[in-house]
Amino acid sequence: VDCGEGTQERMQQYKVRWFRINHIFISHLHGDHYYGLIGLLTTYNLLRRAHPLTIYGPALLKEIIELQLKASATRLNYQFNFVETQDDGLNKIFEDDFVEIHTFPLHHKIPTTGFLFRQKPGERRLLIEKLEGRDIERVHYKLLKQGTDVNDKGGNLIKAMDVTAPAHPARIYAFCSDTIYSEKILPYIQGADLLYHEATYLHDSINRAEETKHSTALQAAQIAEKANVKKLLIGHFSSRYSNLSMLLHEARSIFPETSLAVEGETFNV
Ligand SMILES: [Zn+2]
Ligand SMILES: [Zn+2]
Repeated sequence: VDCGEGTQERMQQYKVRWFRINHIFISHLHGDHYYGLIGLLTTYNLLRRAHPLTIYGPALLKEIIELQLKASATRLNYQFNFVETQDDGLNKIFEDDFVEIHTFPLHHKIPTTGFLFRQKPGERRLLIEKLEGRDIERVHYKLLKQGTDVNDKGGNLIKAMDVTAPAHPARIYAFCSDTIYSEKILPYIQGADLLYHEATYLHDSINRAEETKHSTALQAAQIAEKANVKKLLIGHFSSRYSNLSMLLHEARSIFPETSLAVEGETFNV
């Protein structure tokens, strides 16, 4: 999500597997969120990428990319798909068997969306110890996981509820890029397992935050609390702060389960 300058260097530094990235989501067109994109797209070309890449972002981004490719007479040797995002409510932009991705509007100086990554509910889990010694046809395991009772090879009934446990709860990750404090986003991010929310300033700079349509660490924590999320990650800190501990401290005063989105760290959802 988002692709600022230095993205390729960081990918190298943290040994990201380049060809496992197939979808890139751009929240808005301020340079700090996409100036790394054209470089990445052309590097993929040099690396002879062959499989498709899909970019999600505001309509203008497609024009920008096409103009840059045209100006440098670059023809991509992989398929490049573009999905235009809208900033008018909850919109589904992707779905497969495991996950659904939606955009939702944020409130910033230019059209900006957040992204909601929602895992689909999985199947029930087989309790292997309860199935030991039972002679079951392979195809029946799938039915059991779907909650359907089956017969074993001897004709004895096996109740799905006896030999399976509920699926792991589906997890939700909400990403709120640049935005002013806005309670309008609460319905979209309600109950997320992990919320990323920008926290550009400390609350003593609330005027500056409002002027630039950004949030303070305190406000990010208020959003997390009101949305009843489990964990909060704050980021997008102004370069005026060389020491980030005050931002963390401020957010934790309202929402203790807060961490700093520091580069190179990994957070589990
Ligand atoms: Zn911005
Ligand atoms: Zn920004």
